[in-house]
Amino acid sequence: MKDEASGEMIFSHTYCTLFREWQTTEESQRVRRAYPHVLRFPWPKASVVVEIHDRNRAGAFQKSWSTTLDPASIFSDPGNPYQFESVDLEINGTAEEKVDILFIAEGYTAEEMDKFIDDAGRSAGYIFSEEPFKSNRQRFNIRAVKSASQDSGTDNPGEGIWKNTVVNSSFYTFGVERYMTTMDYRSVCDVAACAHYDQIYILVNTDKYGGGGIYNHYSISAADNLQSRAVVIHEFGHAFGGLADEYFNSAVAYNDYFPLEVEPWNPNLTTLVDFDSKWKHMIADGTPVPTPPDEAYEEIVGVYEGGGYVAKGVFRPMIDCRMHTNDAAFCPVCSAALEKMISRITGL
Ligand SMILES: [Zn+2]
Repeated sequence: MKDEASGEMIFSHTYCTLFREWQTTEESQRVRRAYPHVLRFPWPKASVVVEIHDRNRAGAFQKSWSTTLDPASIFSDPGNPYQFESVDLEINGTAEEKVDILFIAEGYTAEEMDKFIDDAGRSAGYIFSEEPFKSNRQRFNIRAVKSASQDSGTDNPGEGIWKNTVVNSSFYTFGVERYMTTMDYRSVCDVAACAHYDQIYILVNTDKYGGGGIYNHYSISAADNLQSRAVVIHEFGHAFGGLADEYFNSAVAYNDYFPLEVEPWNPNLTTLVDFDSKWKHMIADGTPVPTPPDEAYEEIVGVYEGGGYVAKGVFRPMIDCRMHTNDAAFCPVCSAALEKMISRITGL
């Protein structure tokens, strides 16, 4: 966002979208689709120019859209369509100094709001049960918005179940059963506008396994599944840290998600195109690159082939990690990236 008069940049923000994922699916080869998006920035004092710079397949930024926005225009509405109550679950300081996580209720009826507040508190507890969040808990604020839905639960197209819920979440995104997301980002942001936030966590009132997490877009997961703890931490790693999936053995709908001739922007994967910009400084002398996935290197930061949904050409930092099997803790590279993000958001 630039001040229109001076041209000076006064705000910037980075994010990913579900649409960007869709662009790598088989469907995108034969169907034209549009996904709604919402841009979020401080209410400007004077007329501003808002630009979107999109990363192309080669990894370079290109200006793809811009508009002029005058806060004094009759079409500029500072109001919010929703007036849902927001509850402070844990406040450790001002919004400027802290990472503000906002849980929003999805698939909870008005009568189920006590359950939602319990579920949100438990889910926040999952995040802060694991490093590096555990020792940085004081640098976060946690709030919850009681966004009531008409129906309880969420869509499960595989069983013909369709629910009327506040942000329109669903399983089977891109045909993958466990991939629960919502394309209705406008409703997500309208609900979230009821409280201050840096990170949106959509908590879905279901016990079915699934969820998703997209960098600075949202995290979403089931409240009541037996594996919810692992899923909550993993998805928050995507949405907050921009961490990529280090696995390559589960079915996904993506094709060539990480072009092999481009260094991924995500901190925890490399194609070795520009490894100097990644975790090279964290590798001990004498560790071979690539590193064989042997027992000898089990707990050692190296460069292990396989990650980002492919077995060849994309490399990850550890044999196992929260972003790989989801049975382990975050690897040192992922942890460092999360710590860096906490510092960036808190300004400390
Ligand atoms: Zn990792």
